[in-house]
Amino acid sequence: MRVAFLVLSDIHANTEALHAVLTDAQGRYERIVCLGDLVDYGAEPNQIVEWARANVAFIIRGNHDRICVSDEPIEQYNPAARVSVEWTRNALTAESRAYLENLPRGPLCIDGFEIVHGSPMDEDEYLFGPGDAIYALESISAPVTFFGHTHVQGGFLVTRGGSKRIAAPGTLEIEPDHFYLLNPGAVGQPRDGDPRAAYALYWPDRRVVEYRRVAYDIAGAAAKIRNAGLPEALAARLFMGV
Ligand code: ZN
Repeated sequence: MRVAFLVLSDIHANTEALHAVLTDAQGRYERIVCLGDLVDYGAEPNQIVEWARANVAFIIRGNHDRICVSDEPIEQYNPAARVSVEWTRNALTAESRAYLENLPRGPLCIDGFEIVHGSPMDEDEYLFGPGDAIYALESISAPVTFFGHTHVQGGFLVTRGGSKRIAAPGTLEIEPDHFYLLNPGAVGQPRDGDPRAAYALYWPDRRVVEYRRVAYDIAGAAAKIRNAGLPEALAARLFMGV
């Protein structure tokens, strides 16, 4: 397949951020890939699920997609996150719930690359630093693996000799004989200090990844969070990108 992929992760029920990303990327891709966490934290989970159902070619579930359609205990979460899970569980329609329940768990192999939510071993595991990436290498089967979950754009170049962080945004050329763990960043709730929505484009045949950021209507997304009765902290963090 000689196609370009739009790689999205962690949309988190944020319609404003998703629309800005789709507008920015318009005309530059053929297939949409999603690394999970469609829902939770934001105010429009059903709208995002309906969009995903109609438009996403390849998708795996995230931990929040799983938790919001199960009765998994959430006591270990902070208070705002607990309220958000409970709110989302109530807000999801039967159709949205059925879609989320049927999402496959990663890793998923697509056209020579793989997608996972957290790490190749575990959808709940965070790949925060180069050491985590070296550990993950044991479970990697493709030279390029996209992951999400940390909401930090970039990722890691892993060689047999070590691992280093990839700077983002910008363009990355995929070199042979290395392994790449690449994070497109979060569409709907960035946590890397840049509040703009994050995403990536990937051309497997050209061996190029482009990491992008795009400004969006944060005030609009935050107003919906407040109007829904969700915790103020979830609105405030969008402005800071944390
Ligand atoms: Zn997430």
